[in-house]
Amino acid sequence: MSVELATRLLSADRTAIAAAARVLGDGGLVAFPTETVYGLGADATRGSAVARLYAAKGRPRFNPLIAHVADAKAALALARFSEEAKLLAGVFWPGPLTLVLPKAEGCPVAELATAGIDSIAVRVPDHPVACDLLKAFGRPVVAPSANQSGHVSPTTAQHVRADLEGRIDLIIDGGATSVGVESTIVSCLGAPTLLRPGGLPRDAIERVLGHPLIIADAAPEHAPLAPGMLASHYAPKTPLRLNAGDVKAGEALLAFGSDAPKAAHVLNLSPSGDLVEAAANLFSHLRALDAAGARAIAVMPIPNSDLGEAINDRLARAAAPRP
Ligand code: AMP
Ligand code: MG
Repeated sequence: MSVELATRLLSADRTAIAAAARVLGDGGLVAFPTETVYGLGADATRGSAVARLYAAKGRPRFNPLIAHVADAKAALALARFSEEAKLLAGVFWPGPLTLVLPKAEGCPVAELATAGIDSIAVRVPDHPVACDLLKAFGRPVVAPSANQSGHVSPTTAQHVRADLEGRIDLIIDGGATSVGVESTIVSCLGAPTLLRPGGLPRDAIERVLGHPLIIADAAPEHAPLAPGMLASHYAPKTPLRLNAGDVKAGEALLAFGSDAPKAAHVLNLSPSGDLVEAAANLFSHLRALDAAGARAIAVMPIPNSDLGEAINDRLARAAAPRP
């Protein structure tokens, strides 16, 4: 599945921005500088583009990604802002602050980008290349760090190239990034909670709020258990039966591949057995089958190669007994 791509490298100028917007529009992958680190961008509204991004990074897990937009107005279409969230966005955007907020009604971001959960992380970056690209593209862009999973975050185009050459479509070289560490993540789902320290110091945020942030360790319902392992990960209410070779009475079927058994409620992750397509459909299909009122959801075996590893990780957690 790891198709070798010709990765173009362009210096940041108007031609490069226009080329990058076209690549994103075609569902492709573009690495670009933000003020924190180089991000690997994909169209956040397109599940297949987000799935390709996971494949390029070789991430063994799906965790929710940050949706980047050009300005706070564009963020309003994605998320609902509390008064404190509005205050923080007003003071610190554009900048290295990511806000976790409830998803807005009709939020166009793909289920895979938010790993199926009802909240969304949003940021307006403060870098001329990132801003121009987001404006030219006009849709939200997910952009985790542009490195292979487990490697250090890239702060130059050369770092990106060393890690992702042949795996992505385009790199825009805008020089070294200035902040060099990831954005600070604050959840505004309830009382503002620091989920990840980063480029914006905590005391700057606390001064604006006029009170301390809750620290994620003290708030287990918001805390990532480990990088990428959110306590609030999406879990269907209907029990899952994994590696199913058949469908029992009253079960719905989450199928994969061409020889799916018959069932009253069937959704196929990828009839052709394509793991990128399967990843793009995973959360939306699970949600739809969860709503079908079945006794259980039988899940056909998924190969554990490439994106299959991340798909199986999610399915195993969705099938695990709940407290
Ligand atoms: P990055 O690797 O810089 O793109 O940051 C992604 C991180 O943002 C994830 O690992 C999560 O910890 C965090 N994140 C994104 N969306 C959410 C969310 N809805 N709730 C909590 N944390 C989130
Ligand atoms: Mg990273």
